[in-house]
Amino acid sequence: MTIVVGLLLVLIVGGMIGIPLLRSEEAEAGELESPGLEDAPAPQAPGASRDAVFKELNEIEFDYQMKKLSDEDYRLLKDRYSRMAVAILKEEEEEEKSAMDEVEREVEAELERSEDAAETGFCTHCGAALKTTGQAFCHKCGGKLENQAG
Ligand SMILES: [Zn+2]
Repeated sequence: MTIVVGLLLVLIVGGMIGIPLLRSEEAEAGELESPGLEDAPAPQAPGASRDAVFKELNEIEFDYQMKKLSDEDYRLLKDRYSRMAVAILKEEEEEEKSAMDEVEREVEAELERSEDAAETGFCTHCGAALKTTGQAFCHKCGGKLENQAG
């Protein structure tokens, strides 16, 4: 799990480097909004969306580069939002983990089904798992089956 967080941190840093360059065009186009220290949104909102946080991180970086933020403000904001980003990523990781559990359960169920099938054998023509041991024809491809006792 540390790998995922690490990768995402790389993405954050990469975004910080890459996106401000893109954003400078936007800024020239007239979109100049500064996240002053005062009007920065309260970051502890549990539903704070990941996009918002990442966007904010980029803006902080951008504003710092544009010398609109002091070193102190920059460090403060960056620290705050980096923490939020990490918290959000960890949350997402948890969700991902439970999704993985579900997949694992499905795989296990699938394995159990194929274990059942292993007892009845497989079609020699198409490989379908057979329903019963005494099947004379494959229910899937209709091929004639050898008697696969055992
Ligand atoms: Zn078959």
